[in-house]
Amino acid sequence: GEVINVTRDDKPCYDIMFEDSFKKLSKAVEGLGFKERRIAIITDSNVGPLYAKDVEKELKKVGSQVFVYEIPAGEEHKNLETVNGIYGFLISKHFDRHDLLIALGGGVVGDITGFAASSYLRGIAFVQIPTTLLAQADSSVGGKTGVDFEGYKNMVGAFYMPRLVYMNIAVLDTLPGRQFASGFAEVMKYGLIKDQEFYFWLIENLYEINERDHKVLAKMVRKSCEIKRDVVQKDPTEKGERALLNFGHTIGHAIEKARNFELYHGECVALGCIAAAYISMKKGLIETGTCYEIRDMFVPFNLPITVEDVDPEEIVKLVKSDKKMDNNCIKFILLKDIGDAFIDTTVTDDEIREAVKEIL
Ligand code: NAD
Ligand code: ZN
Repeated sequence: GEVINVTRDDKPCYDIMFEDSFKKLSKAVEGLGFKERRIAIITDSNVGPLYAKDVEKELKKVGSQVFVYEIPAGEEHKNLETVNGIYGFLISKHFDRHDLLIALGGGVVGDITGFAASSYLRGIAFVQIPTTLLAQADSSVGGKTGVDFEGYKNMVGAFYMPRLVYMNIAVLDTLPGRQFASGFAEVMKYGLIKDQEFYFWLIENLYEINERDHKVLAKMVRKSCEIKRDVVQKDPTEKGERALLNFGHTIGHAIEKARNFELYHGECVALGCIAAAYISMKKGLIETGTCYEIRDMFVPFNLPITVEDVDPEEIVKLVKSDKKMDNNCIKFILLKDIGDAFIDTTVTDDEIREAVKEIL
C-alpha cells in the first residue's frame, strides 16, 4: 500500500502505487477524474489471458465502457503496424480525448501503449500496469515511449508521462524464471551505480527474492523506482546524470547485437556490468576483490557471468558504431566503488577487448 510521487519541473506529475492485487485500481482511476469514461486495456497475448479479466472487472466499477485490446506478445510486434491497430480500435470505439488507455503488460506493451496514447488525438491519458520485473523496476518510470522501426530499436517515440503507475507485485508470480532474472539485472545495476546499502540488502535477501516473497519484492521494486526517478528528475533532458543508468549497457548492447538478440536484455546487462567492473579495476578505481565479488553476485540470481560465440573485436566495433550518434565519444559508466558510478570518456579499444575476454 505504499505510494511514491514523481515530479516534473518540481511539480507533482504522477504517483507510483505498490499493491499486492488490483483491488485499489478503480478507486485510483476514479481519483484521477476518469469517472464514466471509456477505458481500453491494451495487453498482449500472454498477459491478457492471465490478468485482463481481473483488471476489466475492477475498471468496470468506474468506466462507462471497458474494452480489452490484445496485441501479439514479443518485441517483433513493437512496431508502427501494432500502433495502427490500436488507433483503428480506438476510433472504432469512438474514444475521445477524455477517455483512458491502460497498458497492462511488460515493457513492450508499456512502450507501445504509451506511444499510442501520446499521439492519438494529440494525446490521451494512460496508466501503466507493468507486469514484468523489468517493466516494474525500469521501463514504466521515466516517460520514454516508442516503437522499433525497420530493425532499429526505439527509433520512433515520444517522452510522454503516464497519469499513474500501478504495480501489482503479485503478477510477478507467473513471470517465467529467465524473464525474472533478466529484470533483476537492472535492479542490481541500481545498487551498483547509486546505492551500496541497497546492493548489500539485495544479497542479504537473495532467498526471498528468488522465492518471490511479495513483501521483499515490493521493497525491491520501490527502491529501484526511487533510484531511477531521482536520476531522471535530476536530468530530464538526458544531458548528464541519466547516462549513469547505462551502466552495463555499453558492452551489454554490443553483446545483444553480436548474439542476434538470442540472449535476454538483462542477461547482456549483467555481462556488461561485469565488463565495466573489470575496466574499473584495470584503471585502479576499484579493488580486484570488489570486481570479482560483483561478478560472482550475479550467479545466485541466475544470471550469466560468461558468454559464448562472441568475438572481442566485433564487440569493440559494435560499441563504437553504437556511439557514432553521440559525437563520436564513447561514454562509459565506470565504478569508483559499489554504489558510486561516474561517466568516463577515456576507455580504450584495448580495455574493451580485455574486458570482453574476461567474460568469455
Ligand atoms: P516484454 O514486454 O516482451 O515481456 C516479456 C515476456 O513476458 C512477454 O512474452 C510477455 O508477454 C510476458 N509477460 C509479461 N508479464 C508477464 C507475467 N506477469 N506473467 C507471465 N508472462 C508475462 O519484455 P520486457 O522485458 O518487459 O520489456 C522489454 C521492452 O522494454 C523492450 O522493448 C525495451 O526496449 C523496453 N524498455 C523500455 C524502457 C523505457 O524507459 N521506456 C526501459 C527499458 C526497456
Ligand atoms: Zn536496460
